[in-house]
Amino acid sequence: MDCQADYLKIQTLLERSEGDSERFVASLRQERVPHLSYSQVTSVEFCERRYYLEHVLHLEPFPMPEYFTKGKRLHQAIATYYISRAGGIDYARDRALEYLCEEGESTSQRQLEIALSVHFANSWDHCQVLAVELPFVMRLAPGLPACVGVIDLVLQHDGRVILVDHKTGRDFYPYDELQMAIYAEFIREQLSSLPCEFYYDHYRWVNNLGRIRKPAFQRTKVNIDGLDWPSALERISVAAEKMEKIHRTGRSQRDGPCFMCPMRGPCWGSYGGA
Ligand code: SF4
Repeated sequence: MDCQADYLKIQTLLERSEGDSERFVASLRQERVPHLSYSQVTSVEFCERRYYLEHVLHLEPFPMPEYFTKGKRLHQAIATYYISRAGGIDYARDRALEYLCEEGESTSQRQLEIALSVHFANSWDHCQVLAVELPFVMRLAPGLPACVGVIDLVLQHDGRVILVDHKTGRDFYPYDELQMAIYAEFIREQLSSLPCEFYYDHYRWVNNLGRIRKPAFQRTKVNIDGLDWPSALERISVAAEKMEKIHRTGRSQRDGPCFMCPMRGPCWGSYGGA
């Protein structure tokens, strides 16, 4: 494995994708360039078989959990809002609402519309939009493949760069320090000349804003300097070893908590696997 050559190939794919994260991810998969990502690490930590299904066979969860599609739609509606703003469109809110438009009434549609209205109340309108869904690649350590990721929102305000990651869920869950550490390292490696801040914007699914006892939105500023990069790197190395073994042998253990796994369908259904 030539990690430096792979890193350069990924950089070329990144340049060719011209900031389009979906195009970048598709080309990475098509070209089969070895790489790591936060989602790969958490997948193999959860269960080796899950990693095999998701990142070797590239299977989708079946049936698709509602929280996947709902979270993705909110991400895209918010992205539509900031892309419109960056393009100078002054009816960015209408564009985002149009994106969510759907025939009929459902709980999930109502929750999405409420989450988007919560976003409008907390949007980063005082900042300049630098990038939306920005793909990136960074080197980790000798012997480890490069790490790729996508940052939801990059802003600039008052001489600072502000990175924002959007989260959705039924509740506010504790954040995984690994994802923060990867972003922080990326900031140090590539944006070090500028003061930088990093925030998690978390949207909680609610059915009625008038009846909630705890907030539907939480903004958390991450203390970038307090993150432990050596521990994060150690965690990535352990996961990378497991991934390498799975790719080399084509075998993976069923060693995860099936009751909370979105890949139960492909795992125990028509696909039998190695
Ligand atoms: S259903 Fe169970 S064994 Fe299969 S991938 Fe998920 S956690 Fe692993």
